[in-house]
Amino acid sequence: MTGTVGGLDRFIEFARALLDKESLILDRSERLAYSCDGLTSHRALPAVVAIPKSRDELVLVVKALARYGVPFVARGAGTGLSGGALPDAEGVLVVTARLDSIIEIDPLSRLAVVEPGVVNLDLSKAVAEHGLYFAPDPSSQIACTIGGNVAENSGGAHCFKYGFTSNHILGLEVVTPTGELVWLGGETLEAPGPDLRGVVVGAEGTAGIVTRIACRLMAVPEARKTLISYFDSVDAAGDAVSTIVSSGLVPAAVEMMDNLALKACELATKAGLDTTAAAALLVELDGPSVEVEVGFARLCTVLEEKGAREIWVAQSEEERALMWLARKAAFAAAGRVAPAYIVQDGVIPRTALPEVLTEIEALAKSSGLAILNVFHAGDGNLHPLVTYDPAIVGATERANEVAAVILSLCLRVGGSITGEHGVGVDKVCHMPEMFSTSDLEAFSRLRRAFDPEGICNRDKLLPTPKLCGERAGSLSGAPVVSR
Ligand SMILES: Cc1cc2nc3c(=O)[nH]c(=O)nc-3n(C[C@H](O)[C@H](O)[C@H](O)COP(=O)(O)OP(=O)(O)OC[C@H]3O[C@@H](n4cnc5c(N)ncnc54)[C@H](O)[C@@H]3O)c2cc1C
Repeated sequence: MTGTVGGLDRFIEFARALLDKESLILDRSERLAYSCDGLTSHRALPAVVAIPKSRDELVLVVKALARYGVPFVARGAGTGLSGGALPDAEGVLVVTARLDSIIEIDPLSRLAVVEPGVVNLDLSKAVAEHGLYFAPDPSSQIACTIGGNVAENSGGAHCFKYGFTSNHILGLEVVTPTGELVWLGGETLEAPGPDLRGVVVGAEGTAGIVTRIACRLMAVPEARKTLISYFDSVDAAGDAVSTIVSSGLVPAAVEMMDNLALKACELATKAGLDTTAAAALLVELDGPSVEVEVGFARLCTVLEEKGAREIWVAQSEEERALMWLARKAAFAAAGRVAPAYIVQDGVIPRTALPEVLTEIEALAKSSGLAILNVFHAGDGNLHPLVTYDPAIVGATERANEVAAVILSLCLRVGGSITGEHGVGVDKVCHMPEMFSTSDLEAFSRLRRAFDPEGICNRDKLLPTPKLCGERAGSLSGAPVVSR
């Protein structure tokens, strides 16, 4: 049994004295607003929502949660797509959104120290006057927080060249589930000692709540060139992606949209996309002007050789922005196809793109569910959007089954169940498909080192017999304890 007897009541008593009325939500109707993240198919009502206004308040909240053994979950903007910020119905949801100060900008060291609730794009806006930007750019960057990016080790369209969040976090401060405030990492990517910063980045909020983040900043590239090329078959587009990479080009981004995605994005944005093409690639090159010019000529040659029927080159920054608007609108645009969707985040070797996309197409036909494909093709990071109408009996179950089959398919071709959205609650039962029992035990021991009492974001990331309907075995020592 987690928690001391009456722990939640004692926490509430403590929190009433510490937090003002706006920072402590007990009212049921107000708590309802926090019952899910971007993965709306999973919902739970938090017993309490705490929205501290300062780091000191947040630290005191976590210390009290540790003292009273109350389970808790951190939440940034709630845009996560794997149920990572799904509340614990017996615990406290700690929202970091009000910790949104940029504490320090050091252009010379290309470093910024921020609070976890800073919105991703706001950091790039704040450092733009120094010719700098924060490279991780999830498509949700106008809303998601850097704390959430750290927890999910988020990627984005440009991670093919620039890497994931982990490559842009130098150090961080975290209040652990035992209430200790520690600084991990430093002001360079290689701090001395074991890389505990690297353990917390991507831990999906299971190692405590990140309270400060030292972010590495990049120089805005001298030149950028962006195009959209159209193909008559998904295979040809997939093949073009492999050839671009094997030719030695390192584009900043290689994004792919299939026909259904093109149609939905065009309806939503009126960007001028060719909706008759079977697939499109959005490719961006950046860097020194000379390098971009030379690379661009090679890129166009490769695309033409691989059967691009038309290439639309952005002629201005406005046109480039329009192309990205169309691409980044894809998830929202899926609403034009059906009232609901499940998005998967499997990764495959790039060379398997044609094979996997053909199988996904066959799955769409056999299930009768429309599937939009829009994804980071350069990284082989698929985002099939399995659309469905929850009002149709059995449609939700069918969509979940199709999504699960797609994940197994990714594993079969040598890929992974998640590229950037995390495991959360959504993919936890797929973990044993990807990792051996001893791998999972090692992960579990590492998690327990941060969270011996198992109160932090329990029921996420690592499978337990209770969660996945298995018989209790060696994993029963995982930090998620029975209730
Ligand atoms: C339209 C759309 C497009 C998206 N595109 C992308 C994309 O291109 N790439 C990508 O990687 N993701 C993408 N996402 C997913 C999501 O935006 C990212 O995972 C993002 O990093 C989540 O940030 P958040 O602030 O919303 O975190 P939340 O959803 O609030 O939380 C996510 C996880 O982080 C934990 N957490 C939050 N704050 C903290 C903290 N301070 N300390 C410790 N743990 C914390 C939570 O407990 C949870 O486990 C997209 C989502 C949407 C809705």
